[in-house]
Amino acid sequence: MIGVSTAGRSHMRYESPTTTREAVALMAKEKGKAYLLAGGTDLLVRMRSDFIDPDLVVDIKRLPGILDIRKTASGFSIGAGVSCAAMGRNKPLARAWPGVVEAAQLIGSDQIQGRCTIAGNLCNASPAADSVPALIAAKARAVVAGPKGRRRIAIEKVVTGPGKTSLGKGEIVVAIELPKRPPKSGDAYLRFIPRTEMDIAVCSAGVSLTLGPKNVVKQARVALGAVAPTVVLVPKAARAIVGTRLEDDALMKLSAACEAACSPIDDKRGTVEFRTEVAGVLARRAARIAYDRARSLRGRNG
Ligand SMILES: Cc1cc2nc3c(=O)[nH]c(=O)nc-3n(C[C@H](O)[C@H](O)[C@H](O)COP(=O)(O)OP(=O)(O)OC[C@H]3O[C@@H](n4cnc5c(N)ncnc54)[C@H](O)[C@@H]3O)c2cc1C
Repeated sequence: MIGVSTAGRSHMRYESPTTTREAVALMAKEKGKAYLLAGGTDLLVRMRSDFIDPDLVVDIKRLPGILDIRKTASGFSIGAGVSCAAMGRNKPLARAWPGVVEAAQLIGSDQIQGRCTIAGNLCNASPAADSVPALIAAKARAVVAGPKGRRRIAIEKVVTGPGKTSLGKGEIVVAIELPKRPPKSGDAYLRFIPRTEMDIAVCSAGVSLTLGPKNVVKQARVALGAVAPTVVLVPKAARAIVGTRLEDDALMKLSAACEAACSPIDDKRGTVEFRTEVAGVLARRAARIAYDRARSLRGRNG
């Protein structure tokens, strides 16, 4: 244990365990406020702004395998400590899941990229988290270690509301798994921000799809960010494009289904009407990019 003597936080303990069992036990038995630390780009900002005052911070970056990206028989496993910059440098991952990687790489600046993780982006539970719509569209799962062992949860089941997750006491996301891609698959993520970078999504859309014979869409998943208390999966939007080659009427049906799934907040960054309409437009454009990727050689990897 290392004592941290940050001004006003002399009570806070910082632990950096080297086994998952130890990390789980530390989180499970702490009676005060305990937080996991991945990249710290949300956690440290919240501490410094005095939104939270932890009694215990458990750094996960020394856990075995936590910094690894592994290509497995069933897809990819991305350790919960892997930075978004490292995801972008992993060529097989970027080839197989360009939409997921581009979503991860939209987070923050170069400095933030070197630290931030998709597991932290997920567990921070912001409705506007950039990697989450892309992960949900990709049918990714979180591998969770806890006092009762390991379990896998669909990404859409992790966040239950702004700042809230379904993780129990002592549970840690140790990896995010992406499935193996069938041939002719593609994904894409787009967000709207008033600036060119370093901003929170006003709304966003992730689409992943697989093509069958004659380039007809065989399977699809569509997810929207920042238009509801949690990222929303929109099965009706996916159904609108399955069986089509993304003809105009199919894309208009996809947009309509997306708009119907929106229940956004109204604030100075975007009105309800604006967020709703733009979410439909982004979903349409992301579907088009995913489709073009699926048709190209890049969509065949993974
Ligand atoms: C300048 C700046 C710009 C930013 N820009 C963006 C942006 O464009 N888009 C965007 O989406 N976000 C943005 N963010 C927010 C932040 O960078 C991301 O949410 C990032 O992905 C968080 O990852 P992290 O590893 O730093 O998480 P941390 O800060 O380490 O953790 C975040 C939360 O998740 C919990 N947690 C972390 N790891 C785990 C785990 N393995 N299991 C369970 N719980 C865990 C922590 O306890 C904490 O509550 C920005 C932040 C800053 C400071």
